[in-house]
Amino acid sequence: MVSKRKSTPSDIDGSNLTQDYVNNLITEDNSAEKTKTQLEEDDSFLTFGFNKSLLESLKKKGYKNPTPIQKAAIPELMLGRDLLGQAQTGTGKTAAFALPIIEKLEDNNEVAAKVLVMTPTRELATQVADSFKSYSSESKNFNTIAIYGGTDFRNQISYLKRKTDVVVGTPGRIIDHIKQGTFKINNINCLVLDEADEMLKMGFLEDIEWIIDKLPEEKQMVLFSATMPREIKNIAKKYLNNPAEIKIKSIKKEAQLISQKFISIQRNYKLEALKRILEIKNEGVIIFVRTKSLTASIAEALEISGHSVAVLNGDIPQSQRENTVDRLRKGFIDILVATDVAARGLDVERIKLVINYDFPFDTETYTHRIGRTGRAGRSGEAILFVNRREKHFLRNLENSLKTKIEELEIPNNQIINEKRMDKLTKDINANSIFKKNDEENRSLMIDILDTLKVKYSMKNEEIAMAAINLIVGNKPFFIEEDESWINKQNLAERDRHTKKGQNKSRSFNKKSNHDNSGFETFRFEYGKVNKIRIPNIISSICSSTNINGRSIGKIQVFNNFSLVDLPKNLNKETINKLKNLKIKSY
Ligand code: AMP
Repeated sequence: MVSKRKSTPSDIDGSNLTQDYVNNLITEDNSAEKTKTQLEEDDSFLTFGFNKSLLESLKKKGYKNPTPIQKAAIPELMLGRDLLGQAQTGTGKTAAFALPIIEKLEDNNEVAAKVLVMTPTRELATQVADSFKSYSSESKNFNTIAIYGGTDFRNQISYLKRKTDVVVGTPGRIIDHIKQGTFKINNINCLVLDEADEMLKMGFLEDIEWIIDKLPEEKQMVLFSATMPREIKNIAKKYLNNPAEIKIKSIKKEAQLISQKFISIQRNYKLEALKRILEIKNEGVIIFVRTKSLTASIAEALEISGHSVAVLNGDIPQSQRENTVDRLRKGFIDILVATDVAARGLDVERIKLVINYDFPFDTETYTHRIGRTGRAGRSGEAILFVNRREKHFLRNLENSLKTKIEELEIPNNQIINEKRMDKLTKDINANSIFKKNDEENRSLMIDILDTLKVKYSMKNEEIAMAAINLIVGNKPFFIEEDESWINKQNLAERDRHTKKGQNKSRSFNKKSNHDNSGFETFRFEYGKVNKIRIPNIISSICSSTNINGRSIGKIQVFNNFSLVDLPKNLNKETINKLKNLKIKSY
């Protein structure tokens, strides 16, 4: 509102987020004689002249450089200009308007709020208010409150009576408070409309106009919208004064940071497939399902499998939902099973994998779901369950997204077992490094070791094994469940391929090996029930064929069978010998 500078719309590529930005700048800037440190400063939050406490809280958040929208918007907002921004969630737009507001209100001592932020949903209201709170965490006496429907009115009134800097809310509840006189608006000198297009879609236009008319005339106005339909342009024309216009081109490239895969699966096997996927990745996962009742039953099944999981659906009271999201953010929960409505706007950096357990109703829903991961330029994964009948929806989805969604195989026993082994050994190794630094723990462990050695005459190896046994517990360490259903899941055309392939190899139990290690996995129908151990397998193979013991790869012995990695491309004669191999126990 202050500056009368001519509006200069800037088109910015929203995909340039991330720390690489500085490095890109260095490689592009050949002529400059600046040092890397100087360049980093040029490109950091320092250039905005923020006060110390704000810089400190950004450091705490781990933000190194401003995102493109922040680079473009913050200087304009600091000048007091109105702003019209086209940017989607995930671009860092919240900080783009929150940081200049916090900076300006650093020394504010007045009781009544100076800034009002309007959002379409209560989820977004809490999220934006939480962002304000965390960005102002180092500023003394800075207060943000969120007011929205569905929660206790009286609580909000008592908060509004205290010193408040920023109020974030949904239009309906804001109107209620204004009408009751519990929200004093005569001090408001900045209004932000966040996700304005969503607000219009939800029919809030009249409410928004009602509120704007009640606010003081002299105010800075900021309008953010993911899309720019005519109605939004009209609002901007009507209420914004010579706004700076910023457009973040699209987050298409950002969406590419999310690896999108699909799994063909029939309904009866969905839960089984889900459990297998979670064997490979189970931290920071959100699973989308269509119904509330399904959220509960899936969560229960996953809990039984030992996962830390919670449910997010419309039946759960708002305060509990907030609590759940907070627990996910802090790592107390790893997996969330949610419906679309309940997870709207969910922004948790930890989410690395989105599973579309039920096919989404439309492209928009799918885009929103997968956008829960890959936030602000980070990478993420999305998996879509597709059954035979949904196959053509998949093609439609690919067409409208102009993206090929590749097929992913359901993890088989071998992959899961390798993962289990890998995780256990990594965990043990990581623990040894940690404990080395912890003197108190170290001396306790030495005491325990001494006791075991002296009192029970145990050897080091025996102690190590017993400790591993303790971790592994009573359950079988390796998965041995029937996996024959996995191959039957594939879509029609893949089915045919698989059958052809199976026919070729079924006569001999040769299994494909997924890596490029030069090995092929062979299955032998001898296992623990035959009292077979690894050395028996090695000696039988070496004595019956010309395979050298050192060229044998991984060996896994299960109850009824064993899997052995042998060099690829063995000759016919050797394969025949392996076919008739008898493995003897000692
Ligand atoms: P938004 O578009 O406001 O919903 O922000 C998307 C995500 O980006 C949030 O998780 C923010 O915490 C994160 N974020 C915003 N700005 C930055 C930044 N400069 N550096 C790193 N992450 C950021």
